[in-house]
Amino acid sequence: MLSHQKTLITFPSPLNQKTFVKLLTVLLLFVTIISPAHAATDYSQLVAIPSPVNGGMTSTTATYMKGVLGVPGALTTDCSAVTNANLKKLMVTDNVGLFRVTGLKPAVSTLKRIFAAVKRDKPEVYNQLGTAGMLCVRKVRGGADFSNHSWGTAIDLKMNGKLDAVGDGKTQLGLKELEPYFRAEKFYWGAGFGGAREDSMHFEASKQLMESWKAGGQLNP
Ligand SMILES: [Zn+2]
Repeated sequence: MLSHQKTLITFPSPLNQKTFVKLLTVLLLFVTIISPAHAATDYSQLVAIPSPVNGGMTSTTATYMKGVLGVPGALTTDCSAVTNANLKKLMVTDNVGLFRVTGLKPAVSTLKRIFAAVKRDKPEVYNQLGTAGMLCVRKVRGGADFSNHSWGTAIDLKMNGKLDAVGDGKTQLGLKELEPYFRAEKFYWGAGFGGAREDSMHFEASKQLMESWKAGGQLNP
């Protein structure tokens, strides 16, 4: 009975077999030649930083931050723990979309809104988003005082798994696409630090945003 078993694909006539082969050829051509041209954009590619940035917002100094939230912990070179009891009460760990972060409560809530808007408007950018961290009590790299990561008000972002280089005067396409969303929520873009301090992977709560949180009682432990 073996000779009566059917093969997986049968062709009623030689013409249909030829048509099938032609269709298969066209499909293979599409897969190998045409569709790679429409492959996803790599949002880690470098582009020029637009000018001006931050629309009149100002960044916060460590002196200002200490005045508002106190000394966060030890002035270490690498990440150390928050030891300020009042500040600890304001720290939360939460999922902001594609990843979890630990940071100052109102800052984490703001990030959730920002990333939800990016997911809605620019899903391709959103899908390549990653983070290199938010809360980290430490000195500014190459500086003498605390980084704003020490109070959990700053976040470093990656695009397509890559970190943007500091001080090269360029940014990643994805970071440039994200900037209007951060600006709308009064987050200051580190591209504005300029020169050797240009840090476009970095977004932090601006002084204006800190002032509005303070006025609204959101910084009370
Ligand atoms: Zn940073």
